[in-house]
Amino acid sequence: MLKRAIAIAERCPCGRKHPLSTSVIECRDGATELLIRYISGRYDPARALVVCDENTAQYAERIASPLGCRMFTLSGSAHANEIYTGILSDHIKNTDIPSVMIACGSGSIHDITRFCAHENSVSFVSYPTAASVDGFVSGVAAMTMHGQKLTYPSTSPEALFAEPSVFCGAPERLTASGVGDMIGKITALFDWRVSNILTGEELCPEIYDLMKSALSSVIDASRSMPKDRLAIPVMEGLILSGLAMQLSGNSRPASGSEHHMSHFWEMHVANAPTDALHGEKVGVGTVLMLSHIKATADIVSQEIDFDIGRIFSRDVVFPVYGTLTDGIIGENIPNGITSSALAKLGKRSLSSNAEKLRSMISSLPDAGFVKDAIERVGAPVTLPMLSLPDGEEFVSTSLYYSPYVRNRLTFAKIISAFRFER
Ligand SMILES: [Zn+2]
Ligand SMILES: [Zn+2]
Repeated sequence: MLKRAIAIAERCPCGRKHPLSTSVIECRDGATELLIRYISGRYDPARALVVCDENTAQYAERIASPLGCRMFTLSGSAHANEIYTGILSDHIKNTDIPSVMIACGSGSIHDITRFCAHENSVSFVSYPTAASVDGFVSGVAAMTMHGQKLTYPSTSPEALFAEPSVFCGAPERLTASGVGDMIGKITALFDWRVSNILTGEELCPEIYDLMKSALSSVIDASRSMPKDRLAIPVMEGLILSGLAMQLSGNSRPASGSEHHMSHFWEMHVANAPTDALHGEKVGVGTVLMLSHIKATADIVSQEIDFDIGRIFSRDVVFPVYGTLTDGIIGENIPNGITSSALAKLGKRSLSSNAEKLRSMISSLPDAGFVKDAIERVGAPVTLPMLSLPDGEEFVSTSLYYSPYVRNRLTFAKIISAFRFER
C-alpha cells in the first residue's frame, strides 16, 4: 500500500507533484519494537515524549520504558480542543523541549499531538491504538476551537507504527467507527468529482483510485469478514486514506458533505452534545446524505443564479448558528462574495453537465446498502442511536445547514444554495 503512495509521490502520471512526508509505515506484528528502534536510531531517546490518555497509557508505557523517556497522560477522554492543546503545550514549554513526540492513541490524541508538535517545531511519530479514524497520517489537525470545528495546517507524522495485537484488541465499537469513517468516502469522492467537473478543481486520478480501492477493500471486509478480524483491513484502509490526503495536500479525497454533517453535529448548534464517535457520525451522515442527493438529483437540470450575499446573510445563518454566525459567514465568504466556493459555479455549470451528473448520482450506492454495511459491523445507523434528535425537522436542518461548516463545494452545498437563495 505504501509502495503505491510512494510511486504517486515520486512521479504521478497526472504531471503534478504530490508531497508525501510519512515515509515509514509499519502495520504488522513487531511494529512496537520497530518504533523503539526507529526512535533510538534517530533521536535522543531519553528526550522523547509519548503522549497518551488514560485508556492508552498501558501501551505508552511499553514504549516509554525501553526508551527511558517521559510520558504525558492527558486525563479523562481527551478532546482535540484549545483546553487539551493548552495543557500539552504548557507541559512542552515548561520542560525540556522533546526530541520527538509519539502520539499513542486514537484520533484525538493524534490531533492534539500533531497540533502541539507543529506549534513547537518538533517531529512526531504515530502509534495508533485503534482502527477508528483516518486522520493518523494527515497533515491537518481537525480541532474544535472555542466551539467551532476547524482544520489547522499542521505536521504529518514522519513515520507510523501500528501493532495488530494492540489495535485488534481495541473495543469493537472503535473499529466499527473506522468502518463508518471509510464508508464516508463514497460521498467524499462523489463531491470531489462533482467539484472537478463543475469548477475544474484539481482531481488527481491516481489519488482518486487509491482512495477508491481503500474504500472497496473496507466495504468488502465489512460485508464478509468476522468482526474479530476486521481491524486489520480497516486500519490499512484508514492509513491509505490518510496518505491520499497527504498526497493531495488537503482533505478533499476523504471528506465531503458526510463529514460536514458530522462536524455540524459536533458544533452543538442544533443538538445537545453526544458521545458518539467521529466515524459513527460520518456513517449515519453518509446514509442521510445519499438519500438527500438521490432525492434532489433533479437540480442538475437547473441554471445557477445564486445571490451569494443572501445565502450567507445573517438572516439565513443566525437562526441555526446563533453565536457562531460570524465565524460561519467568515468561513464561507472570507474575502467577499467572490471567495465563496459557490462563486466558482457558472450559470450553466449544472445544466451543461446534467447527463454526466445524473449518471454519477444513479451509480452511487443506495442509502440502504450503506446502512446494511455499517449495521453488520455493529455501528449505529440512525440518529437516535447517536443520541441525536429524531424527526423530520432535525434531519432537514442538518442536511441544509451542515454544508455551511466549510467553504468547500459539495453537491449538498449546491442543494442548500438553491433553498436559501431567496
Ligand atoms: Zn497526480
Ligand atoms: Zn473522518
